[in-house]
Amino acid sequence: MIAALCLLLPLGLAVGSFLNVVVYRVPRGLSVVRPASACPGCRRGIAAYDNVPVLSWVLLGGRCRGCRRRISARYPLVEALTGVAFLVVAFRFVPEVVGAADAPGIMSRLLALAAFLYLAALSVALSAIDIELRRLPDRIVLPAYLVGVVLLGSSGAVAGDLPALAGTAIGGAASFGLYLLLAVVRPGGMGMGDVKLAGVLGLFLGFLGPAPLLVGVAAAFLTGGVVGIAAVAAGSAGRRTALPFGPFMFAGAWVGILAGEPLAAAYLSLAGIS
Ligand SMILES: [Zn+2]
Repeated sequence: MIAALCLLLPLGLAVGSFLNVVVYRVPRGLSVVRPASACPGCRRGIAAYDNVPVLSWVLLGGRCRGCRRRISARYPLVEALTGVAFLVVAFRFVPEVVGAADAPGIMSRLLALAAFLYLAALSVALSAIDIELRRLPDRIVLPAYLVGVVLLGSSGAVAGDLPALAGTAIGGAASFGLYLLLAVVRPGGMGMGDVKLAGVLGLFLGFLGPAPLLVGVAAAFLTGGVVGIAAVAAGSAGRRTALPFGPFMFAGAWVGILAGEPLAAAYLSLAGIS
């Protein structure tokens, strides 16, 4: 477990550094590979020693080494958040890898670990883009269906885990269908970007089971609703001002992933059902 954490924290920080490139370039239709990163002020290329996640930004005082132009705090924030997200995924999924009984079991859990690390990176990148630009670009969301189906599907297939396979398919379809219904019933509320993202999140939540799926979807509307009401009450948002909903969908999904089972059990016992 310690070894996994020592590996996944630096990996998360490095992935976060790459996500900054994705967050800036993908919505603007630019290549994420070329050209190499440069300061938008003085065009000076960013040296490797100035590109260490979080640390470089702190050491440089949040400014370019060449022209002293301010570098947005979003850069170290995205890096730190991805590092933390990878640690959280490690705590949730590495024990299952270690505890697996046989080789197919280990392979299946490793594939699940990879799938949810991918989801963590997706969560950070798409939340940052949605907050900045109120968009969830197809160039990121659509490939996520392929990655999700391949990783989750092979994880379930390797272990012969039929409930996980069925859950992935049902979760994706149910979540997509629910959001599509909301978008059709109340146009202007939910966007098609949200509908497409809902299908992706449904795959991952459904893979884990019905409780994470239900809690994950409900938690998105609960947190989104509470924050929306608070924003209107604080006067910072009019009734017609749409909050970007993507970050709430991700937040809800992670509640479902990390605490879906205990929350569903607590809800059922409170409701007197079990
Ligand atoms: Zn500069």
